[in-house]
Amino acid sequence: MRILVVEDEPTLAAQLVEGVNTAGYVADVAGNGVDAHFMGNTEPYDAVILDVGLPQMDGITVLKKWRAAGRTMPVLILTARDSWHEKVAGIDAGADDYLTKPFHMEELLARLRALIRRAGGHASTELVCGPLTLDTRSSRASVDGRALTLTSHEYRVLAYLMHHQGEIVSRGDLTEHIYAQDFDRDSNTVEVFIGRLRKKLPADLIETVRGLGYRLTRPQ
Ligand code: CA
Repeated sequence: MRILVVEDEPTLAAQLVEGVNTAGYVADVAGNGVDAHFMGNTEPYDAVILDVGLPQMDGITVLKKWRAAGRTMPVLILTARDSWHEKVAGIDAGADDYLTKPFHMEELLARLRALIRRAGGHASTELVCGPLTLDTRSSRASVDGRALTLTSHEYRVLAYLMHHQGEIVSRGDLTEHIYAQDFDRDSNTVEVFIGRLRKKLPADLIETVRGLGYRLTRPQ
C-alpha cells in the first residue's frame, strides 16, 4: 500500500513517514499544496494523510480539486487544535476522516488502516483467504495459524493482493503500490517477490493470469 503524506512541517512529515513505514506501507511526501495536488492527481495512492494548513494551496482546496477530478482515494485530514470549522470544511470537501493536532501516531495508524480496509470493502482488521490470514494491525501473515517470515517487500506484495483478493492485479499495479516514488523501480522484481511468496504459501493460492497478472484466490 502506498500512502501520500502531505505535511509542510519537516519533523512531523518525517515522523509520519516513519510511522507509515512501520505499518508496512510505503510513503511519498509533499511539503506544499501544489505538489500535493499534482502527486495525488497523477499517482495511484491507497490513502492520503493531508495537513490542512499548507503553503501555496491549502489542504481543503487540494482535496476539493481531487474530488472534483474524480479522485476517490481515502483521505485523512490533519486539523489544527480548536478548529472545528476546519473539520467541517474538510468533511464537506470529501475527507473520509480527520485527526486533530497533536495526535498519537498509534491513533493515526489505526485510522489509516481502517480507511484502507474500508476502501477495499473489508470490515475486519484481519484479512482471510483460505488458510492464509493477514493481520493488518501487526503487519503479520500466517498460514493455518503458523506465522510466515516475510521481508518488507514480500509483505507489501501479499498485503496488496490480500486487499484485492479475487481481482486480477497486474505487475504494473503491484509496482505502483509497493514502492515509494523515489525508489528505483524494476517490475521484474515483482516476479521475484511472487516466486518467493509462492514458496512460503500453500500451492495455487497465487494464480498467474496469463498476460494480465496475478490473482489471489481461495483454494477450491
Ligand atoms: Ca501545516
